[in-house]
Amino acid sequence: MADTRFTIGERLLPWLLAMSWAAAGYAVPPDLWSCRQELTLEFATAADAAQATVRIAALPDDKEWAFSTRWDDNLPDNPRLHDAMVRHGIKGTFYLTGTDPKQRFGREYARNLLAGGCTIGGHTQTHARLTGLPANAMFQEILGNRLERECQTDQPVVSFAFPFAAFDDPRNPAVREAITRALINAGFHHCVYLDFVRHNPDLPAGAISSGWQIKTGSTDIDLETVQAQLDRLTGKKAAYQRQSKLFFLGGHAAMTGAQWETLDELLTRLAGHDAWWYCNQNEFAAYERQRYHSHLWPVAATTAGLTRTITLERPVPAELGACVPLTLTIDRPVRAAHLDQGRLETRLCGDRTLVKVPFPGDQRLPERIDAIANPRNLPMPPAAAGSRDFPGIRVWLHVVPAGDQLVLKLTNRTGAPLQDVRVTAMLPPSCRTAAIRTSWSSIPPAGSVETAFPIRHEKTGAFWRGGRAGFAAAVDFTAAGLPGRLYATTQFE
Ligand SMILES: [Zn+2]
Repeated sequence: MADTRFTIGERLLPWLLAMSWAAAGYAVPPDLWSCRQELTLEFATAADAAQATVRIAALPDDKEWAFSTRWDDNLPDNPRLHDAMVRHGIKGTFYLTGTDPKQRFGREYARNLLAGGCTIGGHTQTHARLTGLPANAMFQEILGNRLERECQTDQPVVSFAFPFAAFDDPRNPAVREAITRALINAGFHHCVYLDFVRHNPDLPAGAISSGWQIKTGSTDIDLETVQAQLDRLTGKKAAYQRQSKLFFLGGHAAMTGAQWETLDELLTRLAGHDAWWYCNQNEFAAYERQRYHSHLWPVAATTAGLTRTITLERPVPAELGACVPLTLTIDRPVRAAHLDQGRLETRLCGDRTLVKVPFPGDQRLPERIDAIANPRNLPMPPAAAGSRDFPGIRVWLHVVPAGDQLVLKLTNRTGAPLQDVRVTAMLPPSCRTAAIRTSWSSIPPAGSVETAFPIRHEKTGAFWRGGRAGFAAAVDFTAAGLPGRLYATTQFE
């Protein structure tokens, strides 16, 4: 059943323009924030306009493969590896654990790894073997790591790599279920272990994307082995692509001596393929999530003569972790495409047309990310509680003594309204995740709001409920024209 995950979108998304509303049974789920855009296509003939099929391309620019890289751990040679990648125009994601107790591998280290279009992924706070932990501790490891690295880099962290590749305990199915719930509740929607995604009955369809890993070996890069893996993928392309169109080189920056030259040779071979989309893992995840959760339908009243108008509903960038435009393919020549008011570039490929659809100008990724912690679960913030990035904004989270409600207080002292405020509660794996979202279109200057999310445990027993439980709320907003994200966190036992 899980194996159909990557093909569902393809089966359902080739919407015929003539399809009616009623036939469109697959929409953005109400739990993803989404935005709508109107696209008008102008054709050469009325017949083209009437018969054209519009679909979302499987990859940006309708490329054949997505290619990325994946490097784990806070290793001292990550910057050197990163330099080599950037020189070759190859992107990827560095899966970092938390800043270490000696304050090494912290903010500067993480930010330097972003150059050239790379991103940071989650790898737990302490390189924990998740399969040996109770559920609350798993969640703290996964969530704490994500929040720390997002605050340091001001970039979303949405892709995850399991330390020790450990995500399953064959003797105890609750382990994988708890890990799955912890990842989703902590906001991850991509994982570099395809096996975790493929054979996972606990994973809702479309929740986590993945790809095929090409192994370099750690200290011993073997070009022939890498080539053999590549040949296998391209030789059985259709079969592999049913699972994922992403493949990525993966390993550790643990090369020594001449291995660095071998790495350089490998990167030379992997660079510059026209049919590949070079991306980091966030970008692939962002595209895949859009492809899965976006929805096209015709605007019937404006369909006439040479033009067709369609509405695109898609998740907002803050849901995706990267601002990747969506590529539409139209099976007829298109003379012009207009999005809302502006004109879009169109590219003719044979008798098809590709159109790249950017996000609306007011939908961007957060440019600053910060967090305000309430580790003692105080109901009211002390005077000193605040955010350095957002001095006028305070968020405060606590669990009521009965343990059945998570309360968020938000005050705006910026002197300007906070706009498009969207809140997502992040609950421990034992909890139901219905009703975890709320939003305000505007919070006035000197305004404050309070909201409560129900805490309903679906799971019982020491494994699920033991130990301190971590809670968070992600608050996304626009302040003075700039999109930001502020987390509030608390602990409850
Ligand atoms: Zn590791």
